[in-house]
This record gives sequence, structure tokens and C-alpha cells, in this order.
Amino acid sequence: MKKFFLVLTIIIGWIIFAFEPSHYALRLTNYALTEAQPISEIAAGPKILVLNYHQIKNGNSYLAVHLDDFDAQMNYLVENGYVAITPDALLSALEGELELPPKPVLITFDDGYSDNYENAFPILQKYGLRATIFIIPALVGKEGYMTWDELNEMEENGITMQSHTLNHIALEELPDDAMRTELLKSKQILEEKLGHAVDFVAYPTGTYNLHIAGIAREVGYKGAFTIKYGNVDLGSNFFALERVPIFQTPTTMKDFYERINFRQSFEEFGWIKK
Ligand SMILES: [Zn+2]
Repeated sequence: MKKFFLVLTIIIGWIIFAFEPSHYALRLTNYALTEAQPISEIAAGPKILVLNYHQIKNGNSYLAVHLDDFDAQMNYLVENGYVAITPDALLSALEGELELPPKPVLITFDDGYSDNYENAFPILQKYGLRATIFIIPALVGKEGYMTWDELNEMEENGITMQSHTLNHIALEELPDDAMRTELLKSKQILEEKLGHAVDFVAYPTGTYNLHIAGIAREVGYKGAFTIKYGNVDLGSNFFALERVPIFQTPTTMKDFYERINFRQSFEEFGWIKK
């Protein structure tokens, strides 16, 4: 009888362990990779800086980076040998099919605000920098957001549009059907209006979990960006790609340098992440 209870305890313990959420998450974190990457390979592989902006304008919102700060930041990237890449290049590099320049940067913007066209676009062009904007199709042409004409014009000049879902609702609050619609419909509308494959999504409000990531993959995305702070490397999950958010703060420029430089050093020496 004693033995029976011992076995029962072990079985129940195992079931609790197997389905305990954090363990489950840990086990599936890298499900997008075909096999576990050795730490040495991850350390030696590419480190890709993905910057995340929202608005470029001279306002008081923390989301709004001022024009002169944005100009100085783009200047800093160019002066320091960063090369702006596309999300396609990022994915190819993670798949081992493309060698990136030594200091790659993916410059991204979320939401598709009008000031991206009015203010960010001329500065990006001045420095010859590519960028990627995550668009909310339901808001295109609405007050404060860019129009389809503006998006098309930017696309002809090195700025790539990808999806930020149809209506920008935090996906974890939605039932599966609605979540699927948000992810799929936005992809379809953007592909039809812009005439190219839309393979990437940025989760609205940055929130995601493995279930959401699974649906994003199921409807045909190849990768998804979060606001999880860090550089992308060979240990990154394709559906939980890290970004470094840049906000307006009392010391915007100092924070910019620290975020892109110190973060990089921390990760190179293995002090953060994993
Ligand atoms: Zn957003």
C-alpha cells in the first residue's frame, strides 16, 4: 500500500511538473529552431540590433522622439558603421543562408503614424537608411495615420511595410477566431494593397504567448516581433524576436547610446538573456 502511494505521488508530481506553465514555456521557447543551438554557436553568431520607434515628432508624448534626436540617432548609426537591413535579411541570417554585415540594424516603427511619412522618411532618405513599418490596415488613411499612397511611395524608396494586425487589439484578450482574423486579414489586405508578401508581424502592445505565436505561424507569417528587450541572435525564437525600444526621455540621446551599446556588450559577454 505504501509503495502504491509512493508511485501515485511520483505520477502526480510528474503531471504537475509537465503542465506547470513556466516549465512548459521554457520547453517550447525555441520551438522554431530545428535543434538546440550550442551556447558557443549562439555567442559566435550574428547579433542583430532591432530598433523600435513609434512617432517622430516634437511632442511631449514618450512615444514621440524629437526630429533632431532622431536625426542624430540615424547619423550615429551611419557614422558608426551600422548597415540597415530588411526583416527578410534578418530571417535569412538566422537560417544560416545569409551573412550579414558586421553591424546590422533593423530600424522599425509601429502603428504607421503620419509623422513617419512627414518627419522620419526624409531623415531616413537623407542617410540612405532602410526601415520597416508595422501597419494597422484598419487605421490607414484615418486622422493621424499614413495613407495608402504614402505607404506606396515609401515602399518605392526602401521602406518596407509589414503587419501590426488589423485593429491593434491586444491579441491575448481575443478568442481564437478573432485572433486569427486580426493576424490573417491584416496580412491579406497589406499584400493586396502593396503587392508583395507580408511575412512579418509585430504583436500589438507587444504582448504574445506561445498560443498566439502558433496562430501567427499557422496563418503564414515567417516571423514576429515583440517588445522583449534585447538583440536578435541564433538563440532567438522566430516568433518572439527581440527589439530595443527608443522613447523620448529626459535624456533621450544618452539613453539611446546606452541602450544600443551597453546592451550589446552585456549580451556579447553572456551576462543577459537565456
Ligand atoms: Zn502598436
